[in-house]
Amino acid sequence: MATTGTSLKHYLEGIGMTSRRTRERMVKRLEEQGIKNTDLLRVMRDTPRHIFVDEALASRAYEDTALPIGYNQTISQPYIVAKMTELLLEKSGLTKVLEIGTGCGYQTAVLAQLVQNVYTVERILPLQKKAQNYLANLALENIYHQHNDGGLGWADYAPFDGILVSAAADTVPGMLLQQLAIGGVMLIPIVNDCGQVLQRITRLTTGYQVEDLEPVSFVPFLSGVE
Ligand code: SAH
Repeated sequence: MATTGTSLKHYLEGIGMTSRRTRERMVKRLEEQGIKNTDLLRVMRDTPRHIFVDEALASRAYEDTALPIGYNQTISQPYIVAKMTELLLEKSGLTKVLEIGTGCGYQTAVLAQLVQNVYTVERILPLQKKAQNYLANLALENIYHQHNDGGLGWADYAPFDGILVSAAADTVPGMLLQQLAIGGVMLIPIVNDCGQVLQRITRLTTGYQVEDLEPVSFVPFLSGVE
């Protein structure tokens, strides 16, 4: 992996199937799929997704598909990254967003360019390290990493005005509900009888509003750390 000077610039810019033109095609597809937030579309056009996957998969990085990132995990497909981020951004002026499931760090990179601070938790240590290495190429300075079971949230920095969970849970972890600010929004895939559904949970002064949004397909939310 290139890390300095001109070679880093070329590496980030990409070529052929990893070039800006390919990213532009991805963004056009996202627009056709109903993504409207122009700041988000700009960030996804500018963020090299190919640097978050192994070199052998780089040419497929802009396909609308999940790809393996090792340790039985996947990088989320561009549409679902865009959709969850767009839903989160409906609430303006987000200062603290908690992400559960850093994975390769692509979703983290997108978020970090659109909100003030991102606190990201990953349970698989080597994956967290991998994500930190990938993210270092982008020199984003508002990302904080923790290796832990994300079901515990990150109490030191709570409450969060946004929480984004990238793995499908059977039930919404109680600690995450507690760490959501009043008026804050959580997006979380939940396993149900038909598969998985993306839920939007809004914390009100009086409790929580839960909405089922659309069917999704995520890797499972697991407890403990590796
Ligand atoms: N947005 C990421 C998605 C990665 S896949 C990306 O695009 O790369 C989901 C990630 O959630 C995996 O890395 C998995 O290890 C992690 N995960 C699953 N359960 C978790 C938990 N309880 N705490 C923290 N991370 C978890």
